[in-house]
Amino acid sequence: MNCPMCQRWQQHPELRVAELEHCYLTLHHDQFFPGYCLLFTRQHYTELFHLSVDRRQGVMEEVSRVAEALFRLYRPAKINYELLGNMVPHMHWHLVPRHRDDPLWPRPIWCEPHTEVLCSAADYRSTAAAIRQSLGLENSDQEGNL
Ligand SMILES: [Zn+2]
Repeated sequence: MNCPMCQRWQQHPELRVAELEHCYLTLHHDQFFPGYCLLFTRQHYTELFHLSVDRRQGVMEEVSRVAEALFRLYRPAKINYELLGNMVPHMHWHLVPRHRDDPLWPRPIWCEPHTEVLCSAADYRSTAAAIRQSLGLENSDQEGNL
């Protein structure tokens, strides 16, 4: 199966934020919305109703935990949660801090195209470290793996 989300953790070490019990957390390569993260299940699942109750609750707790960490760090007006999967069915949550002064506020992030904001590997790593800290995770282990 040629699923980009199944390969994302291995293929983009510079974007790694955290390995959680049910999901991997990475930065989105486009940081037009600062702090934009992708949280995706470690195994290839496509629908919430395919998960056992326990696993679904675990995933939803991780969604909530990451959203709270992003909120603490970025102080946005709102966290956006998007779970679509039309192009990449592997369950992945777009978790996006939104601010009232962002150019697309209050519309959805995909309402019109924007120029991607790509960062250096060092900048991705420092953003990831800040998010890990906000999650209450140790930084040394993750950085050692990069
Ligand atoms: Zn997959």
